[in-house]
Amino acid sequence: MDEPVRLLQTNLREIDSTLDARELVRQVAEFPANAFLINMGGIVAQYPTRVEFHYASPYLPPGRDLFGEALKEARSRGVRVIGRFDLSKTRRDVFDARPEWFFKRPNGEPAVYNGLYSTCINGGYYREHALKILTEALEKYEVDGLFFNMFGNPSADYSGNPLGPCQCDACRTRFQARYGRPLPGATRDADYGEFMAASAREVAALFAELIHRIRPGAAFLTYIQDHTDGVMSESNTAVGRALPLWPYSASDNVNRARNSEPDKMAFNLCMSFVDYPWRFVTVPQAEIQLRLYQNLAHGGPPAMAMLGSMDQEDRQALLAAQPVFQWHARREDLYVGQRSAARVLLLRGNQNSYRGFFRLLSEQHIPFAVSDNLRWLDDSRGEGRAFDLVIAPSGAPAELDRYVREGGRLLIAGPTPPALPVGRVIGARPHTQGSWRVHDQALLPSLKNTRLLFLDGEYLELAPLERPLLTLIPPAMFGPPEKVWVDKVETQVPGLALSDHGKGRIAYIPWDVGGLYYRHSSPGHGGLMADVIDYLLPQGRQLKTDAHPLVEITVMKQPRRDRTLVHFVNLSGHSDTAYFAPIEMRNITVELALDFSRATAAGLNQKLPVTGAGRRRRFILPSLNAYEVVVLE
Ligand SMILES: [Zn+2]
Repeated sequence: MDEPVRLLQTNLREIDSTLDARELVRQVAEFPANAFLINMGGIVAQYPTRVEFHYASPYLPPGRDLFGEALKEARSRGVRVIGRFDLSKTRRDVFDARPEWFFKRPNGEPAVYNGLYSTCINGGYYREHALKILTEALEKYEVDGLFFNMFGNPSADYSGNPLGPCQCDACRTRFQARYGRPLPGATRDADYGEFMAASAREVAALFAELIHRIRPGAAFLTYIQDHTDGVMSESNTAVGRALPLWPYSASDNVNRARNSEPDKMAFNLCMSFVDYPWRFVTVPQAEIQLRLYQNLAHGGPPAMAMLGSMDQEDRQALLAAQPVFQWHARREDLYVGQRSAARVLLLRGNQNSYRGFFRLLSEQHIPFAVSDNLRWLDDSRGEGRAFDLVIAPSGAPAELDRYVREGGRLLIAGPTPPALPVGRVIGARPHTQGSWRVHDQALLPSLKNTRLLFLDGEYLELAPLERPLLTLIPPAMFGPPEKVWVDKVETQVPGLALSDHGKGRIAYIPWDVGGLYYRHSSPGHGGLMADVIDYLLPQGRQLKTDAHPLVEITVMKQPRRDRTLVHFVNLSGHSDTAYFAPIEMRNITVELALDFSRATAAGLNQKLPVTGAGRRRRFILPSLNAYEVVVLE
């Protein structure tokens, strides 16, 4: 949290045990990275181990210790080392000796993949034996952290074959005790998802305690938020994943992690490869750079993972990442102690609804923080982190009540009945292909050229309003053209409701406008969302700009240096399934609700004139390529 990090991960194979550790660490250090995530143990140990049921790589020559040699070399170069473990699988010998430690598929068989047997997160291997393995590792090596891959029971193997819920005795007993019913037959059971998350948290607590006891300075890292010292995530691709691509992946991961767990660093790994079957073939270079710049813009370090050593047959990912790492090394001061200065909070929700709002806020240049939890709303922490507006993209929890009553503004969307007063609810209505009639173009100025929006989805019917803003036009004939809307009727069913609650105000859009915007990018839906946000913001927008919608702008503060950073990430190279070099943007005007007298573009190494006075100041960024950061003092 108080030193700059540049993280490289090389996912070594068992046949890489004979690598020259000195050369490997030299390449990492000169990249330049200052934190190195390298294989340590679990499925394959890259050091001699004496713990029962734990095996050194069969390719590790007698007398050699790849991990120990790399650690020593890294120490001499000032590079921190994170040891990688994967305890989710092991050899058949262990299964034969202790079958009760292993994952049991619904057909009673173990889960076997390439000769390796899956262990169960609730079994004795994870909960007891792993502690012996880790104790040896931590006592023998002065690591700076341990990272765990596949922490928990995966729902499918690497080839995508579903594994079903584990039926081992430990899972059966624990599930029955917790939920008072037998294990379900499918992993998509809601209780089962919660059960697996809770199981992972329990093991995380054990590992965290052990690591911190033996090596108080070492970090516990894995892909969960609880008990860890940093939040790991990945920006990755998969050929079978549904389109559209999500070009904000790194922003999403880092923004959410930093603002959900503000006391932890977010390590978002840029995965260099296309998908599992092509671990040595990289994604486009512009995609690699975009992810890394997004990491920086939201307060995280550059971090990249690749399979194998630094000697890649496809050099493109390394070549793309290197200038970003070099830039970070030159300007480390910019990337320590950053915190979001955004005054809008976006809560999570259904993926599509959430992404629709995420993208709209980015396109509209409204700085926002994402959080998994509501503790940011609790101003009693004394961090002065009151939000002007909270957006709940698919339903809103009752915990928001106090925030609104005390003067907060809240935008709720989606057909799920909110746990707050939004008007009299008449009933849930099924999937409807109707339209919304726009009545109030003064309140909704972005809709000045349309009186219609489309609805493709469910809605929650509210009682008619005195002053209608949007009203439903139910489905009517749409073919042949001669018959279109001949039978059309108008209703008083509201598509937008505004209400005061205590000292605060709520706007409710009782249909999935975020999800529709995510899938179709209708300017009507986007305009509605933006106008309702503007209606709710008590003092107008924090940031005003003429930047293109594909320029992502974040506002971060560095409290210890008493300055504000405005990051610019240029997404204009993204189109369809492609990432090209972004198009240069020129003369971007930015006005901020902030008192500052100096603006310096760090990348251009240029002072920018500041105009305006008092609480609103302006600067013009003369040129933007892939990334820029402007320092305001
Ligand atoms: Zn189990």
